[in-house]
Amino acid sequence: MYNNSEAHAMYPPLASNFAAPSAPPAGMFDNVPGYEGTTMGGGGGGYLPPPAPICPPPAPEPAPTQPEWNIPSISEDTAREAFRLFASGHCCWSKAPAQDGVITAMDAFNTYRYRLETFTESRSTEWDHEQYDGQPVDAYTQPAPGPWDIPVQSPSHFEERTEHIKVPYTSSVKDCHDCLGQGRKPCTECAGAGNKVCWSCSGAGVRSGDDQCNHCSGRGRENCSDCHGHGSKECETCHGKRQLLVYIKLSVKWTNNKEDFVVEQSSGLKIENLASVSGKELFKDTQYLVYPVMGFPDPAVGQAAERLVRDHQDRHSRSSRILQQRQTIELIPITKVTYKWKGDKHTYFVYGNEFEVNADEYPATCCCTVM
Ligand SMILES: [Zn+2]
Ligand SMILES: [Zn+2]
Ligand SMILES: [Zn+2]
Repeated sequence: MYNNSEAHAMYPPLASNFAAPSAPPAGMFDNVPGYEGTTMGGGGGGYLPPPAPICPPPAPEPAPTQPEWNIPSISEDTAREAFRLFASGHCCWSKAPAQDGVITAMDAFNTYRYRLETFTESRSTEWDHEQYDGQPVDAYTQPAPGPWDIPVQSPSHFEERTEHIKVPYTSSVKDCHDCLGQGRKPCTECAGAGNKVCWSCSGAGVRSGDDQCNHCSGRGRENCSDCHGHGSKECETCHGKRQLLVYIKLSVKWTNNKEDFVVEQSSGLKIENLASVSGKELFKDTQYLVYPVMGFPDPAVGQAAERLVRDHQDRHSRSSRILQQRQTIELIPITKVTYKWKGDKHTYFVYGNEFEVNADEYPATCCCTVM
């Protein structure tokens, strides 16, 4: 019944913690020139700095033409309609203030948003392994190309993505370190015995009096359900294949590093509200490296552009390769609407191309009590 003697013979006693998957020993990884610092799990060094370009990139130049800046405004009808829609979106709110309120003032607090996007590619390497199933083995057949010399198809500009690639000429086959090349590991549930103490009679073989335990037929032990009585289970690291393909994995990550600067306005509407809306695009400039926008009517925008462009080009070229930059200026319409309802003055804001409404002080937020 218990054929665990065979399983036992396969395994020398492995001391105490033969359960935990062991970390691969350092000797498992070949020494690959150009990849000396590469570690298991990538904990070693993070992203690899790209090599310096052979010829220096062209210095960015200011745009030759200056755009015309014109400032739109919204009508009273637009403001009222947006407010009505907003109020009806809150099921408990009374529609009365939005419907009957009389607009007494409309003030524009339009603001500018400068946005800089820097699209980068970064690369990192780590040792990795997978079950060996006959994949090509190419370690040492040629020198491995440098991490930045491996051709990778990049996505469209400003589209984020990550790709993993086996570094050519680094794949080799090794005995699985986890099961020592056995393909199976002792079962932790029964400590490799294949059976364990019967849960029904706690090993006595009898229950209340002299009745034989019918769960284990009086043996006092039962088959281990975890390993089906084998005493061992398939190794999870090599999936029973006994061998692993060990290789250096290159991870390539494309990131759009986006940063906004919004000119402070005194309307009382918090700047965070603007993150969800778009504005009218006044300026757009896409280049390998942009030159900070110049001559914009609001000097705060020009100053922010200079600061962000310098910071991005410096920071992102150190640990990654800059592929493209884009700078935009949007005009975000903000209208502060003052209206009278039941003799009192209240305000709300309509902002963005989407005519979003903010009405933190709506006078009738519960239709059950007001009216
Ligand atoms: Zn029993
Ligand atoms: Zn077991
Ligand atoms: Zn294994």
